[in-house]
Amino acid sequence: MKTIAGFVFLMGIILFFADTEVLAPLGGFAVYFIVGGLVMLAIAQLAGNREKNWRCRIGFHDFERKERVEEVPAMRWYRCKRCGKEKRAASIV
Ligand SMILES: [Zn+2]
Repeated sequence: MKTIAGFVFLMGIILFFADTEVLAPLGGFAVYFIVGGLVMLAIAQLAGNREKNWRCRIGFHDFERKERVEEVPAMRWYRCKRCGKEKRAASIV
């Protein structure tokens, strides 16, 4: 599903920038491809993470500060309390 959505999105981008005579008549559809691809990606995103909390699914994670990143002391690990997603972010504290 995500592959198809990504492909449609990519098609749109290609069509959008394509300037060849062969693709020119399709140029008007480029924006539909891009929008369609994005919508499909969003749907795939929501459908694929069904086990997660809905807030995590739309990207609102509840990050908790963890230990410092060993190789980069200015950064810390953050872990979401609900889904366990981890990220690194700068922290001076
Ligand atoms: Zn989360």
